Amino acid sequence: MKMSKLFVQTLREFPSDAEVISHKLLARAGYIRKLTSGVYNFLPLMWRVLKKVETIVRDEMDKAGAQELLMPFVQPKELWIESGRWEAYGKELMRLKDRHNREMCLGPTHEEIITAIARDGLKSYKQLPVNLYQIQSKFRDEVRPRFGLLRGREFIMKDAYSFSATQEELEKEYENMAQAYKNIFKRCGLDTKMVQSDSGAIGGNVSHEFMVITDTDAGENDVFYCEDCDYSANSNHAVSKLPPATVEGNFTTAKVVDTPNTHSIEELCECLKVPASIILKTLVYIVDKKPVLALIRGDKQVEETKLLNAVGGIEIRIATAGEIEEMMSENGFSAIPGFIGAVDENKKPIEKYGEHKVVVVADETVKEMKNFVVGINRNDVHLVGANFGKEIDLPEIVTDIRLVEAGELCPQCGKPLKVTRGIEVGNIFQLGTKYSKPMNAVYLDADGKTKPYIMGCYGIGVTRTAAAAVEAHHDDWGIKWPLSIAPYHAIVVPVSTKDELQMSTATKIYEELLKNGVEAVLDDRDERPGVKFKDADLIGFPFRVTVGKTITEGNIEFVIRETGEKIVMTPDDAITKITEAVKNIINQ
Ligand code: ATP
Ligand code: MG
Repeated sequence: MKMSKLFVQTLREFPSDAEVISHKLLARAGYIRKLTSGVYNFLPLMWRVLKKVETIVRDEMDKAGAQELLMPFVQPKELWIESGRWEAYGKELMRLKDRHNREMCLGPTHEEIITAIARDGLKSYKQLPVNLYQIQSKFRDEVRPRFGLLRGREFIMKDAYSFSATQEELEKEYENMAQAYKNIFKRCGLDTKMVQSDSGAIGGNVSHEFMVITDTDAGENDVFYCEDCDYSANSNHAVSKLPPATVEGNFTTAKVVDTPNTHSIEELCECLKVPASIILKTLVYIVDKKPVLALIRGDKQVEETKLLNAVGGIEIRIATAGEIEEMMSENGFSAIPGFIGAVDENKKPIEKYGEHKVVVVADETVKEMKNFVVGINRNDVHLVGANFGKEIDLPEIVTDIRLVEAGELCPQCGKPLKVTRGIEVGNIFQLGTKYSKPMNAVYLDADGKTKPYIMGCYGIGVTRTAAAAVEAHHDDWGIKWPLSIAPYHAIVVPVSTKDELQMSTATKIYEELLKNGVEAVLDDRDERPGVKFKDADLIGFPFRVTVGKTITEGNIEFVIRETGEKIVMTPDDAITKITEAVKNIINQ
């Protein structure tokens, strides 16, 4: 490819809405153009990168024994009714109607479709296990599309689904996929950490995510990990042992005390001269439309995904001041945040909000609390010396809803946990019978009995993986693509296109590289060398061969983008080096 013909429009500036480096660089270097919120054109350079990621994914999936197919992007409502997700999926599901008023959706994921395919074709245990996958566009109407390709609304995903007869068979396939994922990300030049995670809307029991660790805002997930053992988990799933803390207050009799203007835990601690760990905090959430009170130790935070799972909902948010005011008055109270409690001093509860009953969930660590401080739905006072079973009862749901903090102790080995941030590039789930049961997708076992398949599903964000590679490999000048997924392997730059020897040597090197199977670009533009070098660095060619004045002595400059190394050598040596590096990548 000649640079003068390459369809690439670099920008002088980063786009104004780009917050993270992969978005900034991919836009500026001419890889992507935004069409509308969360929807991007993949221009020729980007498409080359994405096809390479796809090729690696395909190769490893095929090696792992999975079979590729392609399912439609538009899906009928009926299958989603069967699985129960038409209602349950929430606003991310883009619903639409055709001219006959039939309801459809744009596929955010394909469990329903694949389960229907399996139930038509997999009738006997003898056909199992099977793993089917596709690489295709998905659409999710994300609340906050952002960070360019990292969180788009339309994006490319590899999604695989396995069907097994037994749990053991599923676990074997799960391990098989975990290994395939490790190979895929390594070949894409990414270091990943496999962490335990919540199963979320997809459902199921066991799941792991593959995280690219980063210290930037692009890492939307907090990952807790232990340096002494192999424990690591997404914050939505992480658990910890707590270091010793005071959970018994000095108030030995229950009484109401004045605590004027204590709107926060800190102010209440200051007023009563107590540690936050003996305050029972009550937070008001709205899950879908229902009110939920969360009771947790004053020095701890609620993990919203855990709370959501505890009550079984789709969307969760903290209640607004207005909603809390309404809820209070409906129940005959008038307290403002800071003074809320599940019950008042006479054990009268907050019962309802609108037509919904209030659900109360306590974090399991509150069971240890004694003689604690708690709000009683009256402003400027708190109840001190309260105990469960006396002034307040433990609610029906007592479970882990606590957000782990760094420094708390590893659940496996007891050493302090650390926290870092990660970009989730892939995940694997043991689904069990979550889809096969409601959709009646069954096979005949050896005894002639019908049984639902035991399923697994396995996703990789193809577009997100490419963007994560930019997050992991760049500098102030631009992208440093790993050779395996770079749009082109090398660029040959004659310093002066007007110099005949420089131009003819550059052309020869370029043609030789092409002959050897190297994807090369010849920068034949009549531009200043500074401009050409800048573009080469921005676009991120792994190798650059600069043909300048020293060619009269038979030398060129060989530049490695990743390390910045510049080596003077002969054209033949440069050609050999590049060709070998490319062969190694292809033979992986
Ligand atoms: P997230 O928690 O980041 O929203 P998810 O749990 O919804 O991800 P899955 O439904 O399991 O993700 O999808 C599989 C893979 O698809 C993810 O691991 C990720 O790499 C990719 N992916 C998911 N949502 C997006 C998105 N909005 N934009 C780009 N890639 C995405
Ligand atoms: Mg999501």
